[in-house]
Amino acid sequence: MIIFFGTRQVVRDDTRPGGGMQQCPRCGQYALLKPRTARTFIHIFWIPIIPLGQPEPILECQNCHSRFVARV
Ligand SMILES: [Zn+2]
Repeated sequence: MIIFFGTRQVVRDDTRPGGGMQQCPRCGQYALLKPRTARTFIHIFWIPIIPLGQPEPILECQNCHSRFVARV
């Protein structure tokens, strides 16, 4: 039997304030940068099992879907 495991990043929507219409550093467009939270999990068969580290606040560009670490 082959067991697939490793790490993957799970990204969730976040209700914290922030983001909004900003110029995206990647695509240069004024787009909605949406606050989200990324957390790395150890997965087994792609099912997240064990969280690694702390959730990281990120912003996701709704134009090019790039993700950036949110600066405070
Ligand atoms: Zn963008």
